[in-house]
Amino acid sequence: MMSWKSELKRRITGRAELEKIVNLTPEEAAWFEKAQGFRKGGGQDELLFPLCVPRGFLLLAGPGADDPIRRQCIPRAEEFRLSPGELHDPLGDKAHSPLSRLVHRYADRALVLVTGECALSCRYCFRRYYSGGGKGSISEPETGAIAEYLKSRPAIREVILSGGDPLTVDDQRLFSLIDTLRAARPGLILRLSSRMPSALPSRITPSLCRGLARRQPLWGVVHINHPKEFSPACSGALRRLVSSGVPLLGQTVLLAGVNDDAAVLEELFRGLAARGVKPYYLFQGDMAPGTAHFRVPLPRGWEIMRALRKRLSALALPEYAVDLPGGGGKVPLATEYLKGEDEDFWIFENIEGKEFRYPREKT
Ligand SMILES: *Cc1c(COP(=O)(O)O)cnc(C)c1O
Repeated sequence: MMSWKSELKRRITGRAELEKIVNLTPEEAAWFEKAQGFRKGGGQDELLFPLCVPRGFLLLAGPGADDPIRRQCIPRAEEFRLSPGELHDPLGDKAHSPLSRLVHRYADRALVLVTGECALSCRYCFRRYYSGGGKGSISEPETGAIAEYLKSRPAIREVILSGGDPLTVDDQRLFSLIDTLRAARPGLILRLSSRMPSALPSRITPSLCRGLARRQPLWGVVHINHPKEFSPACSGALRRLVSSGVPLLGQTVLLAGVNDDAAVLEELFRGLAARGVKPYYLFQGDMAPGTAHFRVPLPRGWEIMRALRKRLSALALPEYAVDLPGGGGKVPLATEYLKGEDEDFWIFENIEGKEFRYPREKT
């Protein structure tokens, strides 16, 4: 079997290699033509988000032009269209970044941008300003500065290792980063966010699993959007993590033409729960440049969540949430159940559309 590092190196990044595996649709071919003529420096550089897909992931795609795997990894000309409200930095990371590679948005949690690298360039990526930008991986001085920051801020209890995909970094460097942060703050809860179990399952080696399991408390957060991603290799990767003792959460992005369908999401969330992964968030699409064709209108998202709530236990049901544009942070999109209020009660509508009242706190 090929090592994960050589699989990572052999990712498909060009049209010729891609066309050895799939026949491009006109819309996909048009992306490559536009990409060739694209000039950087016009203030919209991130509209050109290069192709990058591991062979194994692409091979999961079916022949159809609207295959959900294909839509996630092969670019289309639509990506060059900047729509109203789309932002270079949709989550406002920069406004909450006290140090290089650190985003501190919430009082008790901070996020480390471990690397700009990913195995797979997701076509809907919200942090494309970062992950497309050749930012490389975190340096020792940057890690040291973040460790000092954590030391002087005991209010921070959780650190999220994100990027990019932190599992593009090799074990030794990843473990040394974790150990430096832990030495600064014993007991710190860590979350490691990654798309690797789906994008490049061979990355989830037994030694990685052992090393992570030894560094508790640590949660793995797996990004996965469609049940077709549950290849035998992906299921094996999830099983290795879970059986090593790494608790797992799932993150999914609601994507038009990929998973904006209650039956598809039901299968995905049941599939995650069955593999030991608790579905945690279903994200509304962010206002990332050139991603309008992936965004699902909120009322449709609510409709899907209503259908899922009838079918799934809370174990299998994630929270539908949005990261508000411009740095507003994450909010659950559950307020469709709140219909109003009077002096004594909050008025809710349940899944059957009936009204129920919950007492207001008296101050
Ligand atoms: C998403 C995110 C978190 C984690 O938020 P949770 O709601 O706890 O999952 C923390 N910091 C930043 C900057 C984030 O974007």
